[in-house]
Amino acid sequence: MRKLNWAAVVVIALLAAVLAGCGRSAEPADSGGGQRTVGIAMPTKSSERWVADGQNMVDQFHEMGYQTDLQYGDDVVQNQVSQIENMITKRVDLLVIAPIDGSSLTATLENAAAAGIPVISYDRLIRGTGNVDYYATFDNFKVGVLQAQYIVDSLKPDAAPAPLNIELFAGSPDDNNATFFFDGAMSVLQPYLDNGKLVVRSGQTDFNQVATLRWDGGLAQSRMDNLLSQAYTAAPVNAVLSPYDGISRGVISALKSAGYGNAARPLPVVTGQDAELASVQSIVAGEQTQTVFKDTRELARSAVQMSDAVLNGGDPVVNDTGTYDNGVKVVPAHLLQPVSVDRSNYAQVLVDSGYYTQAQVQ
Ligand code: BGC
Repeated sequence: MRKLNWAAVVVIALLAAVLAGCGRSAEPADSGGGQRTVGIAMPTKSSERWVADGQNMVDQFHEMGYQTDLQYGDDVVQNQVSQIENMITKRVDLLVIAPIDGSSLTATLENAAAAGIPVISYDRLIRGTGNVDYYATFDNFKVGVLQAQYIVDSLKPDAAPAPLNIELFAGSPDDNNATFFFDGAMSVLQPYLDNGKLVVRSGQTDFNQVATLRWDGGLAQSRMDNLLSQAYTAAPVNAVLSPYDGISRGVISALKSAGYGNAARPLPVVTGQDAELASVQSIVAGEQTQTVFKDTRELARSAVQMSDAVLNGGDPVVNDTGTYDNGVKVVPAHLLQPVSVDRSNYAQVLVDSGYYTQAQVQ
């Protein structure tokens, strides 16, 4: 009797081991979540793109068998720090972070490193720490180049009989991307400012003068109100460099309040970024002129690929190992390509790709 029982136990144990082995070998060796959890810290829900980024990553991680903990910081730095601290305490297996303030996470990420949790910087570079493993983003300098080149191509300052007027806006000074966008734009605009073909009548051309804390459209609107009343009573503004759709819409509101938007005083060329629905509608309606589309589905795919590779010993796909120095290390990055969008190509770029339906944008 005793002997038989032991035999049964051995058989059952062997069977269990074989079944467990089968379960494991059903998964690819170098990918898949198992029961692992990824903590995703996004900056704010007040801009559509971050809502889409978060959802795209959650969907893609779930498809691969990961669990996720997605948190938004309401653009308040301390909220985001606490959310990440909580994720570390709960021992998530990896963190994907789009920082609100790129330089505020040094101490927090010491704790992540002590707990052995790898970190992927998402869209925005985390600065001032060695504890960031990879960076998934777009070619941020190129975003600015596309915006400024659009202005130059539209205004053709070289062929214009007289100098044309432009005002400049930049993004949040605590976001590393804001400087990249501005530097990219200025690489195109500076020669025209130097030769006088383009004029900034307010005189505000330094990044710190034109930056917009937390990318706030309301702040941009007030600044534009002031610029118009101080520098544009005698001449119109012909273009506004705007780094982000929320800022563009604030700028356009100020312009309309000041009497722009009709045949006698047409709206200037106004750029943007993110292809937010309200701005695409504005482009279709002939108000905002341009935006830069960055496909959040692709960015999520890049970050998910990196995360899965880090967790399973695979190779994260990177294509830039020189540009993104965060002050402590050059973070290996995967850069995606931004696309300039206006009335002439929105249908092809945004509708044909399934990002929006035609009914949504009209
Ligand atoms: C992102 C932009 C976005 C901006 C405001 C930047 O870091 O790269 O896509 O428009 O933040 O949310």
